[in-house]
Amino acid sequence: MHTSTRTPRNYSLTGMIPFILVHVAVLGAFWSGVTTAAIVCGVALYFVRMFAVTGGYHRYFSHRTYKTSRVFQFILAFLAQSTAQKGALWWAAHHRAHHRFSDKAGDLHSPVNDGFWYSHFGWLFNGTGETDYTMIPDFARFPELRFLNKYYLLPPTILGVAVFLALGWPGLFIGFFASTVATWHGTFTINSLSHVFGKRRFATTDDSRNNWFLAIITMGEGWHNNHHRFAASTRQGFYWYEYDFTFYILKALSWLGIVWDLRPVPRKILEEGRARDRSRRLGVPYEDTKAKDFATDGLVATPAE
Ligand SMILES: [Zn+2]
Ligand SMILES: [Zn+2]
Repeated sequence: MHTSTRTPRNYSLTGMIPFILVHVAVLGAFWSGVTTAAIVCGVALYFVRMFAVTGGYHRYFSHRTYKTSRVFQFILAFLAQSTAQKGALWWAAHHRAHHRFSDKAGDLHSPVNDGFWYSHFGWLFNGTGETDYTMIPDFARFPELRFLNKYYLLPPTILGVAVFLALGWPGLFIGFFASTVATWHGTFTINSLSHVFGKRRFATTDDSRNNWFLAIITMGEGWHNNHHRFAASTRQGFYWYEYDFTFYILKALSWLGIVWDLRPVPRKILEEGRARDRSRRLGVPYEDTKAKDFATDGLVATPAE
């Protein structure tokens, strides 16, 4: 029974209207027509910005799994925010709360407690608009990040105008709006579907899953059960066969000296995972007691400087 942990609903309709309008804007393509350049632009902006969501919002600002310069940190925040998922400080503060309460009372987006649609996007309009700076003091000390957090619509507006000037109406509707909607729902699947569908390698206290398909569309975030087991590592695909494109890009950036100190997965976690995979292969009853509390294991990698 999860009824006791269901989040009370108090939706903000004014918050929902822009969200709906961005979806409707994609339909403008029926009027403007579609060009090859607009499609190429949309696909490129999907992947570049999905990288910024997972490598920036998530693996950098929420969990500090690697280090970078103040300039590249700003670029990551700007690029991630161009997906119109609010400020990097807002995003990371809410995400840290998700790990703290994962699938328990207080989790902002738990499909177990609140159902698919609420965890997918309903929670965004339910009194979650403010940034709790006490959850993110390590990054809130940078005035440029607080500025971006306050004027969070600046990056998507600048990008939208730039795409429009370069590629006209089809560019705006497909290159910008369609790819923005796609990055939204791609990101949201990690809060909704990846706590429902997939394999549970680790007996984490939540219902997180590893899902190979979601790992493709989110560039590595689909290994979400791994991530809830150990959130402080840069890579979420723990083994070579668990593709993690965000990690590959971060690795390449580390060769260029743009990012550094990528945190590895601890050996004991890798061995624990192999042992659990083996027990499942051999048909040994898969113990999933949820007894141990892993929720805060390695939530944030490095202490604030
Ligand atoms: Zn989760
Ligand atoms: Zn996380």
